[in-house]
Amino acid sequence: MRKSKKLISILLVTILISSLVIGCTKKDTKDKDSEDTGKLSENIVEDRSTDVVVIGTGGAGLAAALEAKNGEKDVIIVEKMSIVGGNTLRATGGLNAAGTSVQKELGIEDSPEKHFEDTMKGGHEKNDPELVKIMTDNAADAVEWLIGIGADLSDVGRLGGASNDRAHRPTGGAPVGSHIIKVLHENAEKEGIEILLDTTATEILYEDNKVKGIVAKDKDGNEFKIESKAVIVATGGFGANSDMVVEYNESLKGFGTTNHPGATGDGITMATAIGADLVQMEEIQTHPTVVPDNGFMITEAVRGNGAILINREGKRFINEIGTRDVVSEGILAQEKQTAFLFFDEGIRESLKAIDKYVDMGLTTEGESIEELAKALDINGENLAETVKLYNEYVDAKEDKEFSRPDMPRKIEKAKYYAIEVGPAIHHTMGGLKINTKAQVLNKEGNPISGLYAAGEVVGGVHGGNRLGGNALADIIVFGRIAGNTSVEDME
Ligand SMILES: Cc1cc2nc3c(=O)[nH]c(=O)nc-3n(C[C@H](O)[C@H](O)[C@H](O)COP(=O)(O)OP(=O)(O)OC[C@H]3O[C@@H](n4cnc5c(N)ncnc54)[C@H](O)[C@@H]3O)c2cc1C
Repeated sequence: MRKSKKLISILLVTILISSLVIGCTKKDTKDKDSEDTGKLSENIVEDRSTDVVVIGTGGAGLAAALEAKNGEKDVIIVEKMSIVGGNTLRATGGLNAAGTSVQKELGIEDSPEKHFEDTMKGGHEKNDPELVKIMTDNAADAVEWLIGIGADLSDVGRLGGASNDRAHRPTGGAPVGSHIIKVLHENAEKEGIEILLDTTATEILYEDNKVKGIVAKDKDGNEFKIESKAVIVATGGFGANSDMVVEYNESLKGFGTTNHPGATGDGITMATAIGADLVQMEEIQTHPTVVPDNGFMITEAVRGNGAILINREGKRFINEIGTRDVVSEGILAQEKQTAFLFFDEGIRESLKAIDKYVDMGLTTEGESIEELAKALDINGENLAETVKLYNEYVDAKEDKEFSRPDMPRKIEKAKYYAIEVGPAIHHTMGGLKINTKAQVLNKEGNPISGLYAAGEVVGGVHGGNRLGGNALADIIVFGRIAGNTSVEDME
């Protein structure tokens, strides 16, 4: 009797636990499978259909999705990673735009024409001038649009190759990319745009000379179709795909990367499979200030705000705010192919992003220049002399050694900091060929009906070398254009 009572109670407890588990599972599935717009969904295996499919949740994809939704189209975004944001999430330095209300408030006189000239010069005039003009003419509007939907871009600084202060970022110089992604993502949720995480687009469907949607795989490998009238490829670059990097530029074999692991060039593979043309695939940029041990990139804004680069003799060797290709080469020519990014407390106070580097333990620190030199095991006398000379150049507003055009502050306030840095793969300038409406072109130069692309997956905007701050301008401007064109072409 006692035995059967015990059995009954075990049975009851089991039923209770199972029903709780089933309840939870059902609830989870319901939430996840829910058509509730704006919710992150998982484990969806049934075929779907919508007006516009966007591949990728970086800045380009989210901006495109918002504009398509604004044009009253239904949008589904697929993202292969477990989080939104891609490389955009990693951007720290700023978003270049000329003629913004923010610049005006700060008394900075600038123009899209100057931005255009800097971009073409920085790209060694290899850029597609029509695409550059679209970017530089519309970057200010992109900033106003982002501010209008909730972004804080009130701090403006200068990044390499710019003739003016035009890199927009949040108050105090806080990291820009994560902020932009947060704002775009919140707006996408508010607008009811469905985002499928852990969902990899594997193929673009193409029939009767028209794009018909995509094939995707969920995280368990279940394949399903999303039929659509338009597909916007916003998959980012291929900086994390070392095979693809070496295929197009053998000299970069063995380099590390600053990119997130999803930057593998999938959009290029999928779009070329249906006839898309490519441009300038060999143009791949290294970023000069990456921590060799862990691949963590130190934003160019640190140099923009006054840091210098020194070698193991304690000497400067280059204009620190030159273009990335030139500064990278300069560092590779130094002993051990690395250098030290050197700055003081004043520079740290001018840029919030630096706090993170200190918290992460990336800096070597000293209460005096000599103490820091000792900790770095480099020549302290030379370093003290280098800093003295540099400060004289700041006062004279002329760098007599390396013609650095902008020296915003002296290096004179203890503590002193140094970070060992060297170049790593950073940006892939080549990619899909588009026109000024973000329509993807085939090898005959004609738009592929229903196919659009924006962001780092596209080639030609940055030519032979991308300027710091121009990628974010590019992805927001062309992301919005891709979204708008997809709507126009449907009507
Ligand atoms: C460390 C770092 C710092 C940077 N700092 C700056 C800066 O300060 N200023 C600046 O202008 N630029 C900066 N850049 C460059 C800039 O961040 C990128 O060029 C830009 O964000 C790319 O945006 P995107 O939307 O094109 O691609 P991404 O932001 O990379 O987004 C692409 C998304 O597509 C997803 N995806 C890829 N393939 C698939 C697939 N098959 N299916 C589904 N999803 C897929 C990816 O997972 C990713 O989430 C920086 C880059 C890095 C790496």
